[in-house]
Amino acid sequence: MRRFAFVEPASVTAATEILAGKGSKAMPLAGGIDLLGELKEGIARPETLVDLKSISELQFVRFDTDGTLRLGALATLTSVAENERLRREFPAVAQAAWSVGSPEIRNVGTVGGSLCQRPRCWYYRSSLHRCLTKGGDVCFTTLGNSRYHAILGGGPSFIVHPSDLAPALIACDARVVVAGPSGRTEMPLEKFYVLPRVRLDHETVLKPGEIVVEVAVPPATSVSAGMRSQFVKFREKESFDFALASVAAVLRMDGAICQTARVVLGGVAPVPWRSEEAEKAVTGRSIDVPTAAQAARAALKDASPLPHNGYKVPLTAALVQKVLLGLSGRGREPGPA
Ligand SMILES: Cc1cc2nc3c(=O)[nH]c(=O)nc-3n(C[C@H](O)[C@H](O)[C@H](O)COP(=O)(O)OP(=O)(O)OC[C@H]3O[C@@H](n4cnc5c(N)ncnc54)[C@H](O)[C@@H]3O)c2cc1C
Repeated sequence: MRRFAFVEPASVTAATEILAGKGSKAMPLAGGIDLLGELKEGIARPETLVDLKSISELQFVRFDTDGTLRLGALATLTSVAENERLRREFPAVAQAAWSVGSPEIRNVGTVGGSLCQRPRCWYYRSSLHRCLTKGGDVCFTTLGNSRYHAILGGGPSFIVHPSDLAPALIACDARVVVAGPSGRTEMPLEKFYVLPRVRLDHETVLKPGEIVVEVAVPPATSVSAGMRSQFVKFREKESFDFALASVAAVLRMDGAICQTARVVLGGVAPVPWRSEEAEKAVTGRSIDVPTAAQAARAALKDASPLPHNGYKVPLTAALVQKVLLGLSGRGREPGPA
């Protein structure tokens, strides 16, 4: 383990000032579930760790009077998964948080850390491989085993986005608030993530000195008014595991007809992958088996599997159908979050 300085700022302003002052030599630390592993493997080598857990103003799950859901960056995944009102109004978000890792990971892992965690690609995580994401010249996926890698949006690197929470929040049209040395900015969470062809050293738009402080989700219309959401995930190991593929969807139904849809795929692309094609396939229609199958085909039409991950195409298509039929009332509903 390399030596590093450890600072505990008391406010967001103090944290961003320290981070900006040190540039890429400093990193924010939240629950540490991801970052401590990177430190131990020598993948992250900060000279200073800025511990955000000392900032009490970031630890909240709350609702505004208009029903906007606000998640502080330091809210734990357990506090998201177990909030009664959140489970009622944003089931997809609660189901996604609940599906993360094990109880121990959810008790410590935070919203900000989940959204900003680094890829789980085995070449990226190996200290023996200097891959594209770590400043090297090659994505080893193209030479080696591509079983867990991207089928959509890949190249030149084929990492997949690991967070379950992110697709669910994007399906709910969430916005992220970022604080930096020049103040706060807000953007759709969808725009927070960038493909490897845009940026290779990080998966988000964050610059040194910037941190996520909050995620805001617009009010959900009640289920009786037709707003429904769901998150489903397929993993190799049922006890705890990352998604081989996941799907989050939010539909506004008027009787049997889908008025609006947002469909986001996880585990299959370097970013949470919004499928406007699947959304178009169901909007204005009654969602029966042929319509759901058409939406699934539309979602995967640009899939370009690597030598070892072709299985992800039918798997993801099946999950898209499962979610759409579940939300339309024609399929099996998922278990409680
Ligand atoms: C065994 C195991 C199983 C897992 N299974 C799943 C799973 O099924 N689904 C899933 O989604 N995840 C899974 N994870 C990942 C886990 O959920 C994340 O590692 C965790 O949520 C990260 O949160 P943290 O607070 O510990 O972040 P940290 O480890 O502290 O930080 C993670 C990264 O984000 C940065 N960061 C942290 N907070 C902020 C912030 N506010 N602003 C900007 N940058 C920030 C850090 O610098 C670091 O780079 C698993 C992890 C393990 C070890």
